[in-house]
Amino acid sequence: MSTAVVHYAAAAASDRGRKRPANEDAFGFSIRSGVYALCDGMGGAAAGEVASSLAVDEILRLLGDDVLPQPAHELAEDAIASANRVIYTRAQRNPKLAGMGTTLVLLITNESQAWLFNVGDSRAYRLRERQLQQITLDHSLVEEQVRLGRMTPAEALRSPLRNVITRALGTHENVPIDVFPLDVEPNDLFLLCSDGLTRELSDDLIASLLQLDLPLQELCERLVHAANKAGGHDNITCLLVRAES
Ligand code: CA
Repeated sequence: MSTAVVHYAAAAASDRGRKRPANEDAFGFSIRSGVYALCDGMGGAAAGEVASSLAVDEILRLLGDDVLPQPAHELAEDAIASANRVIYTRAQRNPKLAGMGTTLVLLITNESQAWLFNVGDSRAYRLRERQLQQITLDHSLVEEQVRLGRMTPAEALRSPLRNVITRALGTHENVPIDVFPLDVEPNDLFLLCSDGLTRELSDDLIASLLQLDLPLQELCERLVHAANKAGGHDNITCLLVRAES
């Protein structure tokens, strides 16, 4: 008996939160192409919004096409490098956009396999058989200290340096990318999210919300609602992708 995944379903929700004047997160996806991207922009004035939407648009332009010369996962690193260049070049040309950048978490799916590509501190999780596992590693100063054993997770949450990210798209000419190849089983649920969700809600709470028997769109809205109820200090975005047999 084959347990190959034959298709995916997806939904997303994004909200400004309760404290920020604008929403600098962006997302985009193509279920048909198996491409799902989420970005959290940063920069003065409206620059963060520009950076995150440039990244999503460039990724979808390059990977969301129906006819690609190679499988999308093989083209993903070049597409991310291209998005990096687009933002970097725009920032160089326009002083108002100088220093803008964005995180990117990108999921590519292909029947029974998936690949996650990550830059920055947005996250991807996989819920499988009631277990929520964080797949990506944050490129943030405090999380790197936690991984080195120099800081506890509780200290990281309280640190005044918790917003400092160590990698972003668009701030340098080149950017290193983390890649996580994964197997996929039917009923696996992937969550891509910005830190506006994970700063407000514990992994345990996220896991229990994800197990509610609701349509994906409603699950996304529940997550956003819970993060707003917990404070909504930042923009909140979540993108859910479910593997179905
Ligand atoms: Ca954020």
